[in-house]
This record gives sequence, C-alpha cells and structure tokens, in this order.
Amino acid sequence: MSINQNKEFKPLIVAFCCNWCSYAGADLAGTSRLQYPAEVKIIKVPCSCRVNPLFVLRAFQRGADGVIICGCHPGDCHYSTGNYYTRRRITLLYSMLDFIGIERGRTRLEWVSAAEGAKFAKTMNSFVEEVHSLGVNTRLSDFRVKDTNFGEFEKLVEEYSHELEADINTEIHETTQSGQILEKMKVRAKELMESGEVSRILGWNKGDFEENPEPAFFNTPQELDNLVYNKFCSANLSRYMIETSKWDGKTLVFLKPCDTYSYNQLVKENLINPSKSFVIGVGCEGNVAIDEMEETGLLEKCLVCTKSEHMVFDELIGEDVRPRTTTDRDKRFKGVAELENLTPEERYNFWQSELSKCIRCNACRNACPSCNCKKCVFDNNNYDTAQKANATTFEEQMFHIIRSYHVAGRCTDCGECTRVCPQDIKLHLLNRKFIKDINELYGEFQAGEDIETVGPLTRYDIENDAEPSIVHERGQKQ
Ligand code: SF4
Ligand code: SF4
Ligand code: SF4
Repeated sequence: MSINQNKEFKPLIVAFCCNWCSYAGADLAGTSRLQYPAEVKIIKVPCSCRVNPLFVLRAFQRGADGVIICGCHPGDCHYSTGNYYTRRRITLLYSMLDFIGIERGRTRLEWVSAAEGAKFAKTMNSFVEEVHSLGVNTRLSDFRVKDTNFGEFEKLVEEYSHELEADINTEIHETTQSGQILEKMKVRAKELMESGEVSRILGWNKGDFEENPEPAFFNTPQELDNLVYNKFCSANLSRYMIETSKWDGKTLVFLKPCDTYSYNQLVKENLINPSKSFVIGVGCEGNVAIDEMEETGLLEKCLVCTKSEHMVFDELIGEDVRPRTTTDRDKRFKGVAELENLTPEERYNFWQSELSKCIRCNACRNACPSCNCKKCVFDNNNYDTAQKANATTFEEQMFHIIRSYHVAGRCTDCGECTRVCPQDIKLHLLNRKFIKDINELYGEFQAGEDIETVGPLTRYDIENDAEPSIVHERGQKQ
C-alpha cells in the first residue's frame, strides 16, 4: 500500500546515488543549504551499475511514486566503466517499465558529480514536480488488496488478443518431408552410436499422443525405434546439452534451424562444450500449435521465423521448406508496436490482465535455454519470491519483467516460453520488446547468430549510446 494514501499527496521519491559522485553531490547540496523536498529518500550504492532492476521494482512496490538513479558523468566512473553499463541497462529497463504501463515520468537517470550540489537539488526539484503531476503511483504496488476493476478493460484485451490470433492462425504448410528425414535420422544416429563416435542421442521420443513428442535421450540403437520427428517436435533441445557437456563421451543432438541459435548462444556463454557435441541439423517445415488436441495453425514463432539456416552443424539432414516472406520480420514486432501505440494505462491494463493469469508453474523458465542459472533468483529461500504461486500482482509482474530482463540480449526468440505456457500468456511480447529496443538503440543483434559477437548488454559505445531519457522521447503514446 502506498504510504501516500489518505493524506495530501507528497510524492515519495527513491533516489539511488552512487557513493563517489552523486551522493557527494547530495551532500554538497545539503551543506550549501540548497533545498529539495524531504520526500526524496536517498539510498547510497557503490556505483550506479550496482542498481539491480529488482531494486527499482521493489521501490515501486513499497510505495515509491518515482525512482531516480544518479551516477557519475560518463567518463568519470570511479570504476572506469560502470556507468556505461548503467546507461544501456537502465535505458532498457525504463523502456520495459514504460511498455508495462508505468508512466515514463516516474523513472529518471541523471549524471551528477560531487561538485554539482546545485544540479542535484535542481534535478530533485524538477523530478518531484514531474512525479507530483502524475499523482500517486498505484501500478506495481500490491494491487490485490485494492479495489481494482478490470472489467472495463476486458474488451480491449479481448480485441487485442483476437487481433494477434488472427495474425497467427494462418494455414499450415503441409509437406511430407519429416517422414523421410526421420528414417535418415535413425540410420545416421545408429551408425554413429555403433561406431562409438557418440555415446547417446538427444532427440524427440513418442509421447502419450502423437501431438506431444518429448525431449529424450536414447542410449542404445534399439531405443532409437522410438525416435520421432514431425511437425509437433517444437521442443528446443539445446538447453539439455548443458548437462551433457559434463558427461563422458559425445552427445548427438538434432537441432532445427532456430534451435541452433540457442545452441550457439550457450556455447558463447561457455555452458555447452562443443567438443562433447555432435550436431545434426534437421530440416524444418514449421511446428504446429495445439489447443485442446486440435491443430490451430503454425506456432506463432514459426509464422514470424526468419531463421532458415542452421548456424552450426556437423551434418545436415533435410531442408528448410517453410516459405518465408519479407514481411515475416515486420510481423515479428507487430504485436510490440501495437502495444507501444496504446496509452500507458491501456498497456498497463493489458499486462495486468495477461500476467494475472500466471500460476507460476515455472514452465517458461524451465523450457528456456537462456534461463539456466544454477540457482534462480526466484528460488531464493531468503527472499519472498520462492513460493510457487504468485501471492500478489507485484510478484506476477516482477517475475516476468525480471525474467525477460535477465535474458535480454541472450534471448534468441526461440518461442519456447510462450509455447509451453499453460495459461497462454504472450511472453514473447516481453522478450521482443527488449529485442526491438536493442535493435533500434544499439544496432541489429540476433542472439546466437555466432559465438563471437559480444552481447549488447555486456558492451557499450562511449560516444553513441543514448541516454535513458531517450525513453521519454521515442514518440510512444502518453
Ligand atoms: S509458463 Fe505461464 S503460467 Fe507458468 S510461470 Fe510461465 S508465464 Fe506463468
Ligand atoms: S525467453 Fe523465451 S524465446 Fe527467449 S530464449 Fe527463453 S524460451 Fe526462448
Ligand atoms: S529468471 Fe533469471 S535468475 Fe531465474 S533462471 Fe532465469 S535468468 Fe536465471
């Protein structure tokens, strides 16, 4: 609950200030008797780069009406480069908060040196004024205890969802390729296993129904009789190769073109040892979405797929036969662009409606190749997020914002998170918001395209990187 309820509105501002410049600047403002509102609560951090996005979300949850991060001017960081990383990361975080519907005016990043007491006071006065004009923050606070009526927004959400689905449910391209590929896959896998070249095969096993083949290891040539390859084999097998890199012998893995991007990304992150792998790239005709055992068309990820080639392979079987058009790429970001064109309130209510469906089954996290932490931050027993089910709307939002932030710049857009979600939550829109922002702000980047290019959030461009204020200027509806 906001601490501002039931009294004259005085915005509560949380200001994260780096120890070396901004905090000293605040000190100077004080000793110079320059005034700024007492509602600004300063939290000292060693470097602006230390500000974890969780801190920002928590501040809002605990009743902050605005959050400002202050650091040394670019080039003056005590640790040389910390604020260059801050600049990129906080720009993306603020842009995502805007996308979720948190008004842009509630977040700011400023560079304030130890000599700039006057700038510190002026910045705080203007920020407080801006936040004051926006009123009490209610988004990201614990909503369920409040009287929140989503009824009036249901129509908007429904219309938007139908529009997305209309895009998605186009015709399936039927081919007979997978049957022919499967025989070749079995023959080659048996040969490699019998020759001792590989110790096991990672592929898709017959599930209980034809429509749900499962990722599986095959340890003998006989077991390969159960190997399947068809239009339902959507599971991205690359994440299982992390574990096999610790085992004796090589593992043969079958990868579709899009899966090879995840594989490459994991090699780049030193999580897969390529010398322990044998990659057979398999041709793809697009995977099919299933709803209550009915085929409903190609999976969304396949409709917007631009990944027609295998980025890595030892051998190839079959070809990519799904026709692609030049509009695939545009379609990929269409949903994000449409949301950007809504007002913050509409965006907020869209996401409230989507994310409140989450039952925290963790399927999205468990299927994601990029979500591979030994101990996930959400499984921390010292933290109030370890429970399975989200207890508040804040937890729903935090889980999804932070998870998509953690995979920003590493997410290959493989679509697994959306595909496995039992609640049909459009998680790809969050991932693609980050991808779109990265492309627009830091140049086109496709995670997993190669194993050399440094990711966009682990590099910076001193001269050209935009300030986070760019989020305010990008022309989205306010
Ligand atoms: S798969 Fe869906 S329901 Fe499960 S945790 Fe992820 S978003 Fe929530
Ligand atoms: S976040 Fe989703 S789309 Fe991105 S790599 Fe993970 S599972 Fe794939
Ligand atoms: S949500 Fe974050 S901490 Fe958890 S597994 Fe994914 S990347 Fe790691």
